[in-house]
Amino acid sequence: MKARKRQPLSERFWSKVEQCGPDQCWPWRAAVNANGYGRLTAGRGVNLKAHRVAYELTEGEIAEGMSVLHKCDNPPCCNPNHLFLGTKKDNTRDMLSKHRGSQPPHSFGEKHHNTKFDEGAARKIIADQRTHRAIAVEYGISWMTVFRLKHGQTWKKLDREVRP
Ligand SMILES: [Zn+2]
Repeated sequence: MKARKRQPLSERFWSKVEQCGPDQCWPWRAAVNANGYGRLTAGRGVNLKAHRVAYELTEGEIAEGMSVLHKCDNPPCCNPNHLFLGTKKDNTRDMLSKHRGSQPPHSFGEKHHNTKFDEGAARKIIADQRTHRAIAVEYGISWMTVFRLKHGQTWKKLDREVRP
């Protein structure tokens, strides 16, 4: 294989998207992850989700804490017209509502801003290596709560003990 000049990300990206009509789905033609979302690598060990890249290339940067969602419910779709921003909290609430009734009675709900964890839960969350979002969903708390905990804005006294 002959050496090629490194293409810019946008060029590399759109070459893998089947660009159909403006209202149709634009399927990702390369690798997908376990959830069916298009996947591409940008440098060693960095995995990007194709629909998020599609959004960023067309609409601009995705604000911290926001998710790119599909109007069409078609995970590999990269048509910018089918993508919109939603909060992780919306997502979490959505996912939790689907599991309603299976929550343990003492789950860590966030009805109030001053929700208190017990120390054990706080330790577990800080040590948890998964994404903020995955943790938030599991504990039934907001993404922001996980963020604050992991960045030492809450439970400061655990700092030296648990934080890496
Ligand atoms: Zn679509």
